[in-house]
Amino acid sequence: MPVILKAEGVEKQYGNEKTGVHALRGIDLEIEEGMFYAIIGKSGSGKSTLLHILGGLDKPTKGAIFLEGENISALRGNALALVRRRRIGFVFQSYNLLEEHTVMENILLPIHLDGRVQDVKFVDQVVDALGIRDKLSSYPDELSGGQKQRVAIARALAPKPAILLADEPTGNLDDKTSREVMELLGKSAREFGQTMVLVTHDREIASQADRVVTITDGRIQSIQEGKYGY
Ligand code: ADP
Repeated sequence: MPVILKAEGVEKQYGNEKTGVHALRGIDLEIEEGMFYAIIGKSGSGKSTLLHILGGLDKPTKGAIFLEGENISALRGNALALVRRRRIGFVFQSYNLLEEHTVMENILLPIHLDGRVQDVKFVDQVVDALGIRDKLSSYPDELSGGQKQRVAIARALAPKPAILLADEPTGNLDDKTSREVMELLGKSAREFGQTMVLVTHDREIASQADRVVTITDGRIQSIQEGKYGY
């Protein structure tokens, strides 16, 4: 599969050389199109830092990130905002839904804000894959945590981003709901051929990915096939 996202010699230092934290110590990683990756590691190992840098939310101290061949770490301001809005989807632990908008409005908002028209058929498929059709005219405060996260996933998938990045998306959910949401996320990624990188500290969740990247102290320790890997 072609490489869609690539980290090259990525280092991240927070604070100064003496007292700061060296969160990433030289990461080289190639994300192949259509594959589902999990990044796993202990708390503080650098997972979130790596995900944020992969998605252009933060800049590496050294090295670069290439999205479809373009060095996005070199971009600033509007150019970077555009890449994040058009080509990268994010799902976080907090759902970040707009309370005064319905579920459907929340899902379509990023597409409309970008001045685009949604692919109605695709949005329909996403809504069905995530099992939220009967909630489309509800408001976020009428939904459970699991339902809110399904909406957040639908919102991230609907604009067909080149890559979907998810940071502990089940961190606020109970075990049963976490498993359901993860299954839906994995199923959606496969059904829509969506390239996805997920950060988790949960080995069981990570094993659902095609490839499991283990991070220790800011370095890649191993890259293995997941339970359903190729
Ligand atoms: P993980 O996601 O694996 O828990 P993080 O990427 O959040 O790890 O953190 C890696 C290291 O970088 C930790 O030592 C953490 O304390 C530090 N760190 C993360 N974000 C910041 C920040 N904004 N400022 C200073 N240190 C940070």
